Amino acid sequence: MLINNNFEKLPESYLFSTVAAKLREFKEANPSADVIRMDIGDVTLPIPASALAAMHRAVDDMADKTTFHGYGPEQGYAFLRDAIAEGDYRARGVDIRSDEIFISDGAKSDLGNLGDIYAAGNVVAVTDPGYPVYVDSNVIDGRGGELVGGRWSNFIYLDCTEENGFKPTPPEAHADVVFLCSPANPTGVAFTRSELEAWVAYARRNNAVIIYDSAYCAYVTSPGVPRSIYEIEGAREVAIEVRSFSKTAGFTGLRCGYTVVPDTLCGFDPEGRKVQLRKLWNRRQTTKFNGASYIIQRGAESLYSEQGRAETEQNVAYYLENTRIIRDSVAKAGFKVFGGTDSPYVWMRSPRGEGSWELFEKCLREANISCTPGVGFGANGEGYIRLTGFNTREKTVEAMRRLAAMMK
Ligand code: PLP
Repeated sequence: MLINNNFEKLPESYLFSTVAAKLREFKEANPSADVIRMDIGDVTLPIPASALAAMHRAVDDMADKTTFHGYGPEQGYAFLRDAIAEGDYRARGVDIRSDEIFISDGAKSDLGNLGDIYAAGNVVAVTDPGYPVYVDSNVIDGRGGELVGGRWSNFIYLDCTEENGFKPTPPEAHADVVFLCSPANPTGVAFTRSELEAWVAYARRNNAVIIYDSAYCAYVTSPGVPRSIYEIEGAREVAIEVRSFSKTAGFTGLRCGYTVVPDTLCGFDPEGRKVQLRKLWNRRQTTKFNGASYIIQRGAESLYSEQGRAETEQNVAYYLENTRIIRDSVAKAGFKVFGGTDSPYVWMRSPRGEGSWELFEKCLREANISCTPGVGFGANGEGYIRLTGFNTREKTVEAMRRLAAMMK
């Protein structure tokens, strides 16, 4: 057989492996150095007690033939879809129904798999910098064209720079599919209502679909910053929203997320007839996915109880306080700072103008702190680094003390 040679076109993903290799090398050469990981993109607090109790009960369900659960619905159990529709949408005045919600094993899978429901010839718009899955999965599906000077010839790149506060505005050019992430990884910035309105208007004008990644929506605390794109009028006709329990409730290792495909959202077939995307996504999921685990879905359901909600908010508040400490400290140390108020990510550049990797090396050698070089998320990330609020309070405070000393 012939392979899908789009894989051969993809450059190796160097970012996290290079960070890991450089850390390993440094630790070997400096065995007594106590390196603080400020690059971690994973949560560190244990999952909320309510989810733990619910999952224990669900395990016990499996031990009894009257409560045993085999294959579940591919779209997810009604108990979880109902809890999401009520807790994440209707309670916030947003019109989303249970049968528009599809439970999955996480946002990454859905973001990659959505390419199954739109044509290979579509023009895709992606942000630079951005979460690499949007680019790589569309390249694998054949939508990238050729890699020229670090950019794929068929994509529209939405430049995120200091000039636009790392928040892209709609381009002149036509795109069929637009990937937006808010609050964004890696820059930590979030769209305001009016910024998002401009994107919904663009999508409506262009018959485009926005794939809205709101994996970090739980971190939104600023008034006027939407958690969901469906808070914007008209978004039900142009947007798919992808969410995750990973960063909200520490489910990175448990795996659960969901995707919303409103029944008012349509694409066109080659004859120009409107086709509901929800139907296509349902068909895709029932063909290639056998549902997320019953036990994990029971855990996710419990997060919508009063106790679950309080515990989740507590965890998010803990990380946000770390992030606030980082923001304040690095600003005081002279860095230019972005993000970090509605996000666990702080995006920053040094006043001395080092490149991303140069700054990474400097932080590692002089302060024994690891960070993520911004250039790994796209060319516009050059000169920036990303720090995260996912470490412990103690280590975050100590890392900031060291960073301040390094900048003196
Ligand atoms: N979307 C963004 C922007 C992310 O940063 C991540 C994980 O880091 C994901 C999606 C993936 O989330 P999940 O763990 O649900 O697959």
